Amino acid sequence: MSPSSQRHVFVETFGCQMNKLDSELVAGQLRGLGYRFTDRREIADVILYNTCSVRQQAEDKVHGRVGDAKALKRERPNLVLGVIGCMAERDGAALLEKYPQIDLICGPGELDKIPVLIDNAVRTRQPQTALQGHQARRSSTLAAAADNLEMLDLSRSVSPTDHNGSAYVRITRGCNKFCSYCVVPFTRGPEVHRSPDQILDECRRLADAGVIEVTLLGQTVNHYRFDHGAAVRLAGVEQPQVGPGGAAFRDPDHRLNTGRRITTFADLLHLLHEQVPQIRRLRFVTSYPRDFGDDILQVMARSPRICRYLHVPAQHGSDVVLRRMNRDYTAGAYIEFVDRVRDHLPDAMLASDFIVGFPGETDADFAATCDLLRRCRFKNSFIFKYSPRPGTVAIDKFEDDVPESVKKRRNVELLAIQSQVSQEIADEQVGRRVEVLVEGASPHARKQRRQVELGWDREEEVDSQLSGRTGGDLIVMFQGSEELVGQIVPVRIQSAQPLTLFGEMIAVPATAGG
Ligand code: SAM
Ligand code: SF4
Repeated sequence: MSPSSQRHVFVETFGCQMNKLDSELVAGQLRGLGYRFTDRREIADVILYNTCSVRQQAEDKVHGRVGDAKALKRERPNLVLGVIGCMAERDGAALLEKYPQIDLICGPGELDKIPVLIDNAVRTRQPQTALQGHQARRSSTLAAAADNLEMLDLSRSVSPTDHNGSAYVRITRGCNKFCSYCVVPFTRGPEVHRSPDQILDECRRLADAGVIEVTLLGQTVNHYRFDHGAAVRLAGVEQPQVGPGGAAFRDPDHRLNTGRRITTFADLLHLLHEQVPQIRRLRFVTSYPRDFGDDILQVMARSPRICRYLHVPAQHGSDVVLRRMNRDYTAGAYIEFVDRVRDHLPDAMLASDFIVGFPGETDADFAATCDLLRRCRFKNSFIFKYSPRPGTVAIDKFEDDVPESVKKRRNVELLAIQSQVSQEIADEQVGRRVEVLVEGASPHARKQRRQVELGWDREEEVDSQLSGRTGGDLIVMFQGSEELVGQIVPVRIQSAQPLTLFGEMIAVPATAGG
């Protein structure tokens, strides 16, 4: 096979924002070594599927892709096929047994090893494996500190052409919550928090490269907490540390009177807002409904560049089901949280996730979910049918007893209620001026452009519709030039659909995030 400087890589990413960031970091690392990237599998020397295990549906897609790759490998035996991410970590060697065409598997905790794995696969023609396995939930601070994965975040290379004004920054990896249905604590390991200095440094470098919107990532971002007194230092630099147990959050300001310097999530938001003002929009996902203190809401309320948007998955509206899910809050506590948000941030937009058809879910339980959704007025919700996941508590403890037809019906019903609520919220925007960060051509304009490329449409018929988001994460479409991508522009909203607002750009470019 050709040296790395001539190898073409094709990467396809499934799943959440964390996976998107992982793919970006792996791509940056490979680019630094001379690899080039292609969006055509047929000409790639290396194909990497960055996978998701959260639901069976996500895994099925990857099985399809890997199955198809068998024919590609027959045509080009030197092709390197890699399965990386959560599915690799969960299925491990079983994947290699099932699909001999796979050359490498690599879990989310080992992604810094990808270049070596590719080289070894090319050299030895033997399958390569890098998984955390039973070590995935190692728990000592030192073990986390010696974690090379941090290097992947730190070595991130950003150039002004790499982004559309927007970037993800990881603040926490892994999860300690063990919701009974969820594979994430097993595939991504324990909660590990990065030091505020490293996060600040990364945000500054992104801002220098022209990024104006940063989204902080973590499975439960509000549980971010860095204990400087307990931090391990290497060459004077504080290393990532394993997150504290739930007890640390019972204390209202999350400091536990240790006498040591603690950076809480509220402190981190304040720090980034004050120290990197070039970032005109600071966002974060995903928040956990428990332990979301007023300290965070107060910082948000007094920091104009922190977006008024919270994605806080409620998952269910019935206390019985929430208990079975091991979510550790009640529907009442969730509503109390939403009321506090509205008190501090009356203009905040809220989004949620829900699971329908969890084991034992009755009609009354489902009705409680519908009530919660109406009561909390989410601007949108991601609604999933329960999918039993191997290795989780729920699959062992509870029978998947809600028939598929009932799961489907409840899914459709909840979506319809959400759609009604979304339409009401969208209608309230009509006539208002909103600030929109332009992300690119709208899906409609992109489709038309593909048709021109295929010779089915004429160039002059292509629409110049752009798509972007408000600070509250509402999607807005309007006519404009693609030179505006990556900028914040003012738009007057003229009409609304449940998940899309349509408007007209106001002539003066905006100077502040909105
Ligand atoms: N950490 C986030 C939280 O707790 O809110 C969510 C992370 S998870 C990757 C994204 C969403 O997938 C969850 O909020 C949940 O609604 C859904 N999910 C996770 N496991 C699932 C399962 N076994 N079946 C169906 N949906 C699931
Ligand atoms: Fe999964 Fe729960 Fe952790 Fe979210 S908080 S990643 S749903 S275990």
